[in-house]
Amino acid sequence: MNLGKLADYHTHTPLCRHAEGEPFEYARQAEKLGLGEIGFSDHSPAEQDGFDDWRMLREEFPQYLQSVEVARSKVPKIKVRLGLEVDYLENGEVWIEQLSAMAPYDYLIGSVHYIAPGWDIDNPKWIGRWSGVAEIEEIWTAYWRLYTLCAKSGYFDFIAHPDLPKKFGHKPEGDLRRFYEPAIAAALASGTAIEINTSGWHKNCSEQYPSRQFLEIMSEAGIDLVISSDAHSPTNVGRDFEKAVCLARDTGFTQSARFEKRCKTLVDLPAATCTS
Ligand SMILES: [Zn+2]
Ligand SMILES: [Zn+2]
Repeated sequence: MNLGKLADYHTHTPLCRHAEGEPFEYARQAEKLGLGEIGFSDHSPAEQDGFDDWRMLREEFPQYLQSVEVARSKVPKIKVRLGLEVDYLENGEVWIEQLSAMAPYDYLIGSVHYIAPGWDIDNPKWIGRWSGVAEIEEIWTAYWRLYTLCAKSGYFDFIAHPDLPKKFGHKPEGDLRRFYEPAIAAALASGTAIEINTSGWHKNCSEQYPSRQFLEIMSEAGIDLVISSDAHSPTNVGRDFEKAVCLARDTGFTQSARFEKRCKTLVDLPAATCTS
């Protein structure tokens, strides 16, 4: 498959303390795979340093921008975009606005990892909290309420890993449409795109984020798609993109979104021969 029409916009850097490889190494990998563009979207600084231990400090932000510049100069053949993965926190709007003004981004990614102060649901540290059917229902409900607000906010060019709470394999009973539909309606209203995040295939849930059912409702609604790896190491850039293109086509998408200076354009998905 020719990946020249695709971009990988969700990637990290060592500044977040749980990724490896410098941005230029990610860019080299993207070039090797034949991707059209690569973008960086490391976990943003928090308003207060020490908020958690998996993001850059405020004073490290200039270093982040610099490392993306280095990738641009060392790997000139590929377009290197600047983004940031920003946590949507309730009542966190002022900080999001400040972050948005801190650099000439090509795009901003909105994510929900926290459903309550100090409770990042994808952190294995809190695995004991997924103790039963009622707790799973409760966590999913809290997550999707925030995810819907994040989608509605209009702060972000696209939003990341929907259905993250399935990471360790926990899913509520019954039709999950009740969680998906409000978030999709909110993203539609704000014109926010949503990613297929291929990293889910490598977590306990063994499924991309979001589920096929979510993708079907999303494409039916006419929401724009982004395909992302969420790479935390250079070898994971563009991982499973062919599989993601096949899934995207199969669920009704024909294009994916590109971003430059926070303007969106749509590009046809690569031609694919997929076996289902
Ligand atoms: Zn991360
Ligand atoms: Zn994330």
